Amino acid sequence: MVVDLHTHTTASDGAVSPEELVKLALTAGLHAIAVTDHDTVGGLAAAEEAAAKLPIKVIPGIEISTDWQDEEIHALGYFIDYNCQKLQKVLDILAEERFQRGKKMVSKLRRIGILISWARVQHLAKEGVVGRPHVAQAMLEEGYVGNISEAFRKYLSKGQVGYVCRMKLTPAEAVKLIRDAGGVPVLAHPGLLRNHHKLGEIISKGFQGIEVYYPQHDSEQVRLYLTLAQQYGLVVTGGSDFHGASRAKNKLAASTVANKVVSDLVKIREETKHGNCK
Ligand SMILES: [Zn+2]
Ligand SMILES: [Zn+2]
Repeated sequence: MVVDLHTHTTASDGAVSPEELVKLALTAGLHAIAVTDHDTVGGLAAAEEAAAKLPIKVIPGIEISTDWQDEEIHALGYFIDYNCQKLQKVLDILAEERFQRGKKMVSKLRRIGILISWARVQHLAKEGVVGRPHVAQAMLEEGYVGNISEAFRKYLSKGQVGYVCRMKLTPAEAVKLIRDAGGVPVLAHPGLLRNHHKLGEIISKGFQGIEVYYPQHDSEQVRLYLTLAQQYGLVVTGGSDFHGASRAKNKLAASTVANKVVSDLVKIREETKHGNCK
């Protein structure tokens, strides 16, 4: 029985709806999936509903972007209570902030003659939250850049004219938020971190698990993370980071874990749960 603990839907930047994702997961032979959209729980109810009558389980999750020492660190949260008021409130603030940031990026670009429209950018984000990829896509459509990475390099990355900084939680704040919502905080894809030499310090922010199995991790990294998991008493998780067909390496079920990991997460949740939703 295999489980993919890292997937995205149209509620954030994924290409498939929660309903489609559940169907794809069933076809892929998965026994369970965790839906872990960026900074939103908007796809969870629909995914759970779609799975209700099917032989597949949906684990309510989230992936929160945090900022630490000038780098983005992603915190996965599993078995969160997505009706938790405190969680909802913080996510609403983050979404509003990203919305305003998107608008600011567009007006900054318009000021230098890159006349993309805010309505088009919003449309490209579908039901999800507006982000730099949508702004880049609008620029590409209008012929201001030749490809998405050029848009980032020349205009949207830090220090460039279209860049607008973004408010983010710290890893410790995200860990606390996930735990307040009754969930288990897990460090996402450590192999993608620049501050790789500081993993011990990052884990000590309160993570209870580490995403060991991930399409972009090589066997040496997997070995290292297994050692760290043992050292710090962490649950070993894994998942594909599926966003749709566009990311060739991150196909659904490209990285999976055994069903036992789900019971490990439930166990650590029951043993250490400290839900505090008000
Ligand atoms: Zn991530
Ligand atoms: Zn992800």
